[in-house]
Amino acid sequence: MVAYPHPVIRMPIICHHCRKPKCAENCPTDAIEVRDGVVVIDEEKCISCRQCVISCPFGAVFTHEDIETPFKCDLCGGDPECVKACPKQALIFVPEHMIGEEHRVSSLLKYAKMKEIEYVEQGEKKILKYAETEKVTDGGAS
Ligand code: SF4
Ligand code: SF4
Repeated sequence: MVAYPHPVIRMPIICHHCRKPKCAENCPTDAIEVRDGVVVIDEEKCISCRQCVISCPFGAVFTHEDIETPFKCDLCGGDPECVKACPKQALIFVPEHMIGEEHRVSSLLKYAKMKEIEYVEQGEKKILKYAETEKVTDGGAS
């Protein structure tokens, strides 16, 4: 986890387990492998060159002065400890096909709360009120 040097903003930086991991692409010893969809560092093959640290676009590979090789999230064998430990349930572990679900739900809610929609028809700006949409729907159904 990284706490940004900012009084308010604190956010976790975690590995995305990319399908095409930049960290692995730039590893000179092929020490980074994808095993069952999880991107892992093989410490035996690693020469500690830190290329992976530089290559990850998210800063998800870490180093520590007491640890010889870089390290990163390995999903704890499929049962991530960070998710269990988070006191605010801010972290959730979901199947890959659920990625984006939160955005989809939040978009739906935004539409549901909209009172009117602005659009342009033949160059003319128009406003469709939500109530009018309901009327049209009712009329169409009868
Ligand atoms: S360490 Fe970075 S580049 Fe590598 S898989 Fe994770 S997020 Fe992707
Ligand atoms: S530090 Fe290790 S895992 Fe990272 S790029 Fe270098 S050899 Fe590969």
